[in-house]
This record gives sequence, structure tokens and C-alpha cells, in this order.
Amino acid sequence: MPHRSALYSQRSLVLILVALLGTGFLATSLLSYYASRASIRDSIINTELPLTSDTVYSEIQKDLVRPILISSMMSRDTFMRDWVVNGEKDPVQMTRYLDEVMTHYGAYTAFFVSNSSHTYYHAKGVLKQVRVDEPRDAWYFRVRDMKDPYEINVDPDLANKDNLTFFINYKVYDYDNRFIGAAGVGLTVDAVIKLIDKYQQRYQRSVYFVDGFGRLVLTGASGGPEGAHIGQSLGELTNMKSLVSQLPKPHSGSYEYSAQGQGHFLNVRYIPELHWYLFVDKREDGALSDIRQSLYLNLLICLLVTLGVLALLNRVIRRYQRKIQTQATLDSLTELPNRRGFDLLAVQALHEAQRESKPLTALLLDLDHFKTLNDTYGHMAGDQVLIGFARDLQSCLRHSDIVCRWGGEEFIVLLKDTDGDTAQKIAEKIRRHVEQQVYSYDGHSLSLTVSIGATTLQADDTLHTLLSRADHAMYRAKRTGRNRTCVEMPYSTYA
Ligand code: GH3
Ligand code: MG
Ligand code: MG
Repeated sequence: MPHRSALYSQRSLVLILVALLGTGFLATSLLSYYASRASIRDSIINTELPLTSDTVYSEIQKDLVRPILISSMMSRDTFMRDWVVNGEKDPVQMTRYLDEVMTHYGAYTAFFVSNSSHTYYHAKGVLKQVRVDEPRDAWYFRVRDMKDPYEINVDPDLANKDNLTFFINYKVYDYDNRFIGAAGVGLTVDAVIKLIDKYQQRYQRSVYFVDGFGRLVLTGASGGPEGAHIGQSLGELTNMKSLVSQLPKPHSGSYEYSAQGQGHFLNVRYIPELHWYLFVDKREDGALSDIRQSLYLNLLICLLVTLGVLALLNRVIRRYQRKIQTQATLDSLTELPNRRGFDLLAVQALHEAQRESKPLTALLLDLDHFKTLNDTYGHMAGDQVLIGFARDLQSCLRHSDIVCRWGGEEFIVLLKDTDGDTAQKIAEKIRRHVEQQVYSYDGHSLSLTVSIGATTLQADDTLHTLLSRADHAMYRAKRTGRNRTCVEMPYSTYA
């Protein structure tokens, strides 16, 4: 079965090409995707997130420098120290002083807590008395006992609707270096929250602060991870559990974790002034969506190119197959169908004629003394005569008739829908036409005659029986003098 094996080899060729193209395209697309992914991840982990963290940190430092300076000046202020040493006589004086500091320096609050009276003064008057047993006043006693000259503390501000405030708590000493109280200013964390929001929106990353116990202490306006609120522990958040298991206590550095199938890059930085950790978190998806899209686009283009190449290849192969098939069924000299081509056409014609009970007549034509012509004028002359004869033969037939070069100087014609009598007339017409033709070759005028055997298709005929009858008839024509038509019917013969 040559056709089937050709089909198989064509299919395997196409499959190999698809595999080659597909693998090549896929490999280059994936390679470039993974290379860009690696460089993007690298730049996020090593540049982007640390840079955000640096910027937020330096903004915080910048915001804290001024209040620290103001608080330092307050702690050295002679009016305040004199007023305390002289027995805190007129609280209005202190209040006015604190109000002046607050309004002039644009602080959120300004305060002084006296160590001898435990009175908490602020810009609007006396707030309260601090007490050792009051947890909210713990900061004062901590400041009193600490070695450092000041601390930065973040607490809700009692004097201002419990707004979260950075307090600079400075120790105040009298002229004999005895501790007489704590003074300082507070600054709202709004500015920091605005900064966090700006970064979150502009760079699509989450920025928040966590204390040493893993609790959220400061977030943007929309809250912390998963919308968590201040005071919540990271360990309580379902998506952060895997991360918290990596860092039971926040620790500066870069981390990667996944939450709900979503990769995250995280930079953690310790802020010594606040004893907090700054978390900058970026979702992998957002960062890589662009290159993922270009990967999909790449793959789509590869698919389209592969399909295009396949379609083109398929067309070329089919065209060549058709060409080869046509060549295999045509005689190259006369361009008439050869034996193979004839077989294909004849089987169908016989089938149709038998099915529709229509007459069909076969003619077998053999050129007379063709060997002599070849021997006399040469093989090339013979070829030219064969070409001319084929053309003349076709000119005597209808388009629907089947004509073929059976081999050598023998031709077969199947006359469709034609009975024996009509066929005999057609055969005679051919014979006479050929007889009258002159074929010129190399200055010679060549003529020839043809012997024709004719027979009509019978109901039980095969192609073989039909053609062997035609052959008999043709031999009879040869035997009885050539240049004539003989008809052979089954079981009987006619001249
Ligand atoms: P007859 O009248 O008995 O048919 O005599 P013939 O010479 O035609 O018969 P024979 O079968 O003996 O010779 C056929 C010749 O046709 C012999 C062969 O060389 C020649 N022939 C066959 N094919 C070709 C061809 O393609 N080109 C040429 N030039 N000659 C061919
Ligand atoms: Mg012959
Ligand atoms: Mg012959």
C-alpha cells in the first residue's frame, strides 16, 4: 500500500515539524520568561523593597528630628526649670509656655510632667496626675528611671482623643542635675500613614509596622495585610501563618512566602528609634503580571506561526502529492493517461455503464509496421509520430471518452454511452483520419496506418475480459491485412 505509507510518512513529518517548532518556540519563550522573571524578582528583593524601606525609614527619621530638637530645647529651657524649682506656682504660665511651643513649632501636642507633684501639664491646661498604678502612665516612670536622655514612644494621646502619636519624652534636670520631670512634644502619625498610603498606591505594595511581639502597630488607611487592624498579631492572620512560622519574631531581611497560592516578596527592617519592624510586602502576581502577559502573547504568536507553517506545509505537500500522482498516471511522451491512469478511469467507467445499463465500447489501436518506421527514420521520428497520432486520436473523440497509451505503439479508447455500430463508425473515422495524415520529421513526410479492434461491454464483463476481446479483434485486423477495424462480440465474431 504505497499510498498509506506515504500518508504515514507525511503525518510523521508534520508531527516531527510540529514537535520541533513547538519545542523550539516553547523553550525560547519559557527561557526568556524565566530569565526576566528571575531578574524582576531579583530587582524586587534586592532593590525595590529595600529602597521603599529606606525611604520610609528616612522619612520617619526626618519627621522625628525636629520634634527631638524641640523637646531637647524644652528640657534645657531655663523658664521651665525655674518655674518647677520655684514650686510650680502659676500653672497658667506653664500652660501658656506649652501652648506657645505647640503652636509655634506646629507640634501635635506639648507636655510637661512634674516629678515632685506628678502633675501632667499640656497646652490646654492640667490634664491629670500621673500614678504609678495606672498602666497608661507607665511611660512616665519608665522615662524617669531610664539612663538615656530621651525616648521615642508611640501611644494613643490621652489629651487628643487617643490619636496614635509619636511622643518624644525628654528628661528634665534642675541646675544640680536632679531629675525634675519629663517634657516633650507629640507628633501625630498621620504624616507617616499618608506616606504609607502613597507608597502602597503608587507601587502596589503593602507597608506596615510590627512591634517586637509580632503585633501590628501602624498601617496605611486601609489597614494591614488582609485588612488587619492595629493591635492584631500577624500570627492570627490565616495568610500570614506560613510567614510567621518562618519568623516567630520579626527579623530584618528579605523573605518569600505564599498565601492563598499567591507568592509574596517581603522586606523586614528594624527601626531602632521605635523598636519596631517595618514590613514592605509586594505580591508576586502584580509584579510579574506584565511579563506573564508577554509570555502568553509569545506563546500565542508561536502557536499562530506553528499553525501557519503547518498550513503552508500541508498545502505544499498536497500540491506535490497531486503533481506526483498526476505524473504517475500520465504518459510523458504523449501526455495521455498511461496504464495506471487508465485503470483508475476505466474501472469507474465500467462500473457506471453496468450500473446504468448503458453501452460502452472499447477500441484497441495498434500502429501498423511501426518498427519499420523506427528502423527507417529513427526512434526520434517514431516518437514524433506517436505524439502526432495521440493528438489526432484525441481530435476524433469526445471529451468524455477515455483514451490511454497502453504501451509502445498501442492505444486504448473507451467510448462511453456508445454501442457497437456507432463505435465501429468512430473507429473507421479514426482509421481514415490517420491514414490521411502526414507527419513531418526532419524533412521527411511520414504517414502510417492503424489496426483497430473493437468490442462492446457485456453485463458480466470485467476490464480484463473486455480488453482481451478487443485484443483478439485487433489481432484479427492485423492478420487480415492491417489498416482496418475488426469487431469482436462474445461468443461470435464479425468482420
Ligand atoms: P505490426 O504492424 O505487426 O504491429 O508491426 P509493428 O512493427 O508495429 O509491431 P512490433 O510490436 O513488432 O513493433 C512495435 C515497435 O514499436 C517496436 C518498438 O521499437 C516501437 N516502439 C515502442 N514504443 C516506442 C516508443 O516510445 N517510441 C518509438 N519511437 N518506438 C516505439
Ligand atoms: Mg504492437
Ligand atoms: Mg504495431
